[in-house]
This record gives sequence, C-alpha cells and structure tokens, in this order.
Amino acid sequence: MWFSLETIVSRAKRRGFAYPGSDIYGWLANARDLGPYGTEIKRNIENSRRTYFVQERGDIIWLDSQILMNPKVREASGHVAGFSDPLVDCKKCKSRFRADKLIEESLLKSKDKELPKNRAGEKTPAEDLFAFLWAKKVKCPVCWASEWTEPKKFNLMFKTEQGVIEGEWMDIYLRPETAQGIFVNFKNILDTMRVRIPFGIAQVGKAFRNEITPGNFMFRVREFYQMEIEYFVENDEKVWLKAFKEWMQTSKKRWIDEIWISEKKLKFREHDKEELAFYSKGTFDVEYEFPWGRGELQGIAYRTDYDLSQHIKFSGKDLQYSDPLTGKRYVPHVIEPSRGLTRAILTAMIDAYDEEKYTDGNGVEQTRVVARFHKNIAPIKFAVIPLVKKDEKMVQMAHDIYKKLSKDHMCEFDDSGNIGKSYRRQDEIGTPYCITVDHQSLEDGTVTIRERDSMKQKRIKSEDITF
Ligand code: ATP
Repeated sequence: MWFSLETIVSRAKRRGFAYPGSDIYGWLANARDLGPYGTEIKRNIENSRRTYFVQERGDIIWLDSQILMNPKVREASGHVAGFSDPLVDCKKCKSRFRADKLIEESLLKSKDKELPKNRAGEKTPAEDLFAFLWAKKVKCPVCWASEWTEPKKFNLMFKTEQGVIEGEWMDIYLRPETAQGIFVNFKNILDTMRVRIPFGIAQVGKAFRNEITPGNFMFRVREFYQMEIEYFVENDEKVWLKAFKEWMQTSKKRWIDEIWISEKKLKFREHDKEELAFYSKGTFDVEYEFPWGRGELQGIAYRTDYDLSQHIKFSGKDLQYSDPLTGKRYVPHVIEPSRGLTRAILTAMIDAYDEEKYTDGNGVEQTRVVARFHKNIAPIKFAVIPLVKKDEKMVQMAHDIYKKLSKDHMCEFDDSGNIGKSYRRQDEIGTPYCITVDHQSLEDGTVTIRERDSMKQKRIKSEDITF
C-alpha cells in the first residue's frame, strides 16, 4: 500500500521516532532530532552492522575519527575546490535550484537516465548544464517558466573557526563525509593493527552539508549520519573487479538483512560511463522507491588509489603498503561502499509503515496502524502489560517479567489498564510481542503472548518467553 510522506512525518513525531529540531523555537528548517524510538532503530542498525562486518567477517576493523580535521585534509580530498553544486535561479519567480538536479528530474521523467553527479574533486560541467536547461526548455517546477540565470557555484561545506585568540583563528570545516577520517588514519592502522590487504576500515558518524535543496523529511538534511567503509585492495584489475562485484552483492544483501527493507522496493543500478566521477572507474547505486520517487541510499565506488595518493601528495607521508609475503610496496586501491544511516532509518520507517483493516471481537471493521519492523530492528522488543492495573499481584508479576526480559532486550512496561489501547500503541511503534499478565497467570504462572503481525495470541509459561 502507498502512504504519503506527511503520514510518515506526523506518525514519527506523534510516536517519538523523530521530532523537528529546535521545536519549541519554531524549528530550524529541515533539522530533525531522533526521538527515543528513532535512536533505538539507529542503535539496532549500527549493532547489526558491527556484528556482521567487524565481529564476524574478520577483515574489517573500525574507528571513530574527528569531525573537525586539519583544513589541509579538505584540500587534499578536493572538497575545498570541488565540493560545490551549480545553482540556477528561475528568472521569473526567482526560485533557486541545483542545475544538475533539475536536469536529472526532467531526464528521469523522459528517459529514466541521470546526469553526472557532483562529487568532491569532479569538475562540474556548469556550462553544459546551462546550455542543456535552455536547449531543452527545462521548466521551473514552481512557475513553469523556462528562463534560467547562469549557474553559480556554491560550496556545500560548513565552515567555522578554531582558536580563542583574536587574529589567530583558523578557518576549519565540518566534515562533509566520514571517509577522509579513514584515509588519514591509514598509516596508524598499518602501524598498530595486524592487517593484511585486502582489508577494510569502517566508520559511522555525523557528516554536514549545507544542502541547497534539503527536504523530504530526513532524506536530505544538513546534518546526518553516514556509515562508510573503505576496502583496500591490490592494484590489479582482476582483483578490484572481483572485490567490486563482491561489494555489490554484499551491499544488496545487507540492505535486506541489516535494515530489512523489502527487496521489491530496492533498485540496484550501475552507473553509465558518463555518470562517473573522474577518479572512479565504477559506481553502483542502491536506490529505494520513496513516496516522492526514487532516491539514493548508498553508493559503491571503485576510487582507484586517488584518495591515498592525494594524501601522500599533500601530507608528504609515505602511505604505501608493504606486502609481508611478497615484499611488494604499493599504494592500495579502494572500494568504497558509502551508506547513509539517517536515510536508512527513514527508509526503515517508511518501509515498515502499514495500515490494516481487520474485524474486531464484536464483528466491527477496524483499521490499525502497524509498523512491521523486523524484530531485530524494532525499537521495543516486548511490551509487558498487567491486565488490571489495580491488582497489585498482577502488576507485581508483570513487573518481575519486565525486569527479567529487560536485562537482554528493550522492553516497555505498560500498566495503563486499557489493553486495547496498549496493543494499538505497541502496534504503531512496531513492538513484535506483547506479554499480558491476567488472572490465570496468578494461578498457573502462564501469560499470553500476542504476535504483532498476525495478532494471534497463545498462552505460555512465563519462563518460556524467548525472542
Ligand atoms: P545525493 O545524490 O542524494 O546528494 P550523494 O551521491 O552526494 O547523495 P554521497 O556523497 O555518495 O551522496 O554520500 C553517501 C551517502 O550519504 C548517500 O548515499 C546518502 O545515503 C547519504 N547522504 C548524502 N547526503 C545526505 C544528506 N544531505 N542527508 C542525508 N543523507 C545523505
């Protein structure tokens, strides 16, 4: 079933998944704070990622680098010179747009193709974009005119100042992606950890972009989480091609196994040659069918030895790898699976949302809102509910069960005394199991366990509750 974005946004606020940032001050445009349940989903995704990549695979380690970095890092990465979007204004209504996105949308409508992306280091063909806008009479989405100003460049990085003594301040940037923190630590990792190529370094953290056209709830925001991996391989075409293909497969699987997104809404798309950033020999996007259209969730790029070579040039440090078996020294090449965590949380919320008609015990047709999160991603795993809130023994028994389960799982204790309301609330936040303690429980130690999706209930011994 299809649901509007407004439905998702209002549910997110009403049920504690995500709130407007700085809400009591009238919001800071497009900023979103994760509420208690959004925070839990984030933690669950991170945990699943850590378990699979860092704990189980054995060829990936992780780190947590700084948001503020030596400004030279941003020169080396190309973000100072190239991390900009070409902006055009509609001459009639004065609305401002990213030229590449305007064209991308008009092409998507016509031929399902995209124009080259604007990534750090890439030369933007701004003149070509301008010529295209005029030649194809691309329309302003606001007023439908097709007259455009020349593109202006705009750097997406947030700049701030470091230092406390006037005159000794230094311009510094909030990182626009987490990847460079990995590259600048490459030598530290080689020197301190027992790693052998191929291996990867993963990082989860905040990134900041002064986006020109933020929107669609948490899809494009100015402050967001990324989950990036840099996977270092030998400079050999056969080797990197194999690694790239493996990462395409792994990434597909992880969207389904880590975020539990329905496969039919995911789209895996390899970039055409003309779409690639100049340093990249292969790029693969994972996209999702959002309520407003298709959008990118992850990009997987083969970035050659571009990043490490840039850092060798700018830092003057030797970042080569020595193979302990062959003695060969070389600058490793890199496959970069780069995934948005904020977008993953949003996608999980959209994908899970459902409204379902059912007939209640009195034969009346009802609608229930249910978030069909996979149980591993659901913010709350069990709700424990005493049927009668005034019955002290019942409340005590429910409380004991809650205490026991909450040692291993996020649980909620709900003694509101209205079982129907409790179920509705737990369905909406996606709790897979509700445990109810009733009169019979006090006699024989059994409880009812209700499963969210089927709404089926069965009676089991309280000590037999498993996840
Ligand atoms: P887009 O084309 O949507 O601007 P991008 O290609 O610039 O994205 P990358 O630089 O490849 O994005 O960043 C990797 C991932 O980080 C993206 O796939 C996306 O999930 C996430 N991401 C990028 N920008 C934002 C943003 N402004 N808000 C939320 N997530 C973002």
